[in-house]
Amino acid sequence: MEKKSVSVTLQHVTKRFKNTRGKADIIAVNDADFVIEAGELVTLLGPSGCGKTTTLRMIAGFELPTEGKIFIGSEDVTMLPPNKRDTATMFQSYGLFPHMSVFDNVAYGLKLRGLPVEEISRRVNETLVLVGLKDYGDRAPSKLSGGQQQRVALARSLIVTPSVLLLDEPLSNLDALLREQMRIEIRKIQKSLGITAIYVTHDRVEAMSLSDRVVVMKDGYVRQIGAPDEIYEAPDSRFVAGFVGKAEFFPVKVVSKDGGLWTCSLGNKTVQVAQAAPDVNVGDDAVVMARPESLRFEEKGKGYIDGVVRLNVYLGNSMESFVETSFGEVLVQLDDPRSKKVYREGEEVSIAFTPDRVRLLSKNED
Ligand code: ATP
Repeated sequence: MEKKSVSVTLQHVTKRFKNTRGKADIIAVNDADFVIEAGELVTLLGPSGCGKTTTLRMIAGFELPTEGKIFIGSEDVTMLPPNKRDTATMFQSYGLFPHMSVFDNVAYGLKLRGLPVEEISRRVNETLVLVGLKDYGDRAPSKLSGGQQQRVALARSLIVTPSVLLLDEPLSNLDALLREQMRIEIRKIQKSLGITAIYVTHDRVEAMSLSDRVVVMKDGYVRQIGAPDEIYEAPDSRFVAGFVGKAEFFPVKVVSKDGGLWTCSLGNKTVQVAQAAPDVNVGDDAVVMARPESLRFEEKGKGYIDGVVRLNVYLGNSMESFVETSFGEVLVQLDDPRSKKVYREGEEVSIAFTPDRVRLLSKNED
């Protein structure tokens, strides 16, 4: 199954859909311009309608871009039909043939290519081992669980040894536990084959746990691209911050910048912040973005934001405290709560943070 992996390049790719009822065109994808490196697993993440599937379908060749170019490796594939591209797509619906055995379902693509029977048999068996279905070749798809059917679909995509594997919400029909197992398995298989993979999802946990890098999209635009920890810890906008995790935003005025440290006024307190998005400047009204686990409690009056604990939710390895403050409700997550002072519901507290665990963002909610 070894094959050289290739990169995928989108150059200023835009897709407009004509609106037939005299309304404005829909710009499903707007100037997408990025490179997926060979062997990477990149997720396209964003809310419904942001253009993820359209981007994937253009890479697969099911849709043609209105503008821009797509390269697989060094080959310009922009105008090539799907079967002339070295890609395989795995969709949300498994698309298995119900009247064929698992073996025949997996063999289908190779039979179409007219390969010798022995080679087909060898490759089908190898692929079934790879996806953990070694002894299931004779079964009918209807006699398999949802997760097993998903594995057959994966085997069917992999057997044609594509250079690029495209996955469109492949796990959304599975229950939560199975989804978790399958995504780890997909990741292991993708790594072991060294195949380039592009994965569409609106599930942030799936995106964060699977990917080398995440492309966050909104309204047809790519809003940020980065490794999961970069996107989580250093989002450049409130939208990305809130889409990839829980985030609190505190309104501040940016007063000065000295070395790497920004000084801001937050209510009547002065706070320091060690990181900022590129569009933040001294003098701006901005927000401090904090993840709930980056906040901590101090005695009343000793932190930056005073409030009253309204609800404590014990989660075993952490405790979530919902605190009523003059900035609205703030969620504070205390990891390993047994080692910390826990404030009871109704108690007055003060919320604080360290400069390197928070980030300044433009106050623009987009
Ligand atoms: P979802 O998570 O709901 O699948 P998505 O992020 O994959 O959403 P797309 O399916 O790419 O989004 O759709 C992007 C936009 O383009 C949407 O506004 C959608 O309605 C529109 N769109 C998609 N396909 C077509 C089409 N064939 N004709 C007209 N508009 C379309």
